[in-house]
Amino acid sequence: MALDPLIEKLLVLQDRDVRRDDIVRRLEDFPARKASIEREIAGAKAAFDEKSAAHKALELKKRDCERRVEQAEEQRARFRTQQLAVKKNDEYAALEKQIEGAAALIDSLETEVMELMLALDESEAALAKAREAFNADLNRLNENLAALARVQASVQADLDGAVAEAESAKAGIAPDSLDLYAYVKTRVRRAPYIVPVEEQHCMGCHLKVSNDVLQQARMQGALPRCDSCGRIVYFDR
Ligand SMILES: [Zn+2]
Repeated sequence: MALDPLIEKLLVLQDRDVRRDDIVRRLEDFPARKASIEREIAGAKAAFDEKSAAHKALELKKRDCERRVEQAEEQRARFRTQQLAVKKNDEYAALEKQIEGAAALIDSLETEVMELMLALDESEAALAKAREAFNADLNRLNENLAALARVQASVQADLDGAVAEAESAKAGIAPDSLDLYAYVKTRVRRAPYIVPVEEQHCMGCHLKVSNDVLQQARMQGALPRCDSCGRIVYFDR
């Protein structure tokens, strides 16, 4: 017995529907994959910005320290000028004490500047390494984004073709049969939607179908459904 022409058409439609639905599912993944790469980019950028900010803070600290050295030096110079003008020994001695205090402050600030310069050298080298790593990461991630977009465009193009093919497969199928098929698709949710009966068993769920369903499956144009899973069943031999 030849296969019912209606079943034949529905099987073609099913194949094309499955292909189209697979492509739709593949397309659904793209936004999440893109967002994940963008999150990685943002994370890498934030990490680098943080290192860069720490380095800048160190530079500011050194500049501030150098300014304080200049101020202390100016102050010491003022004390020395004042010292030239005083006549009394005790005033002279008091200024001498202030000059010594300023000198001690200058010493400790200069030590701090030296330490900050060393720290800045290290920080500079670490920052250069971090910048290199960040740029490499950024290149890699941007390449991933571009590759993803290319794949997405090609899958989208596949979809356009698959949609057209699935639509054209509907030609010559009566609207009520298409409606039934569409209904079964919503009920079953996963392909296949049309399955053969073999030895009175539905090849979708592998359970036995009723005699009534079996009898209808032998008739042309009838679209009986499995009693258990609701798939359309047909008789293949
Ligand atoms: Zn079944």
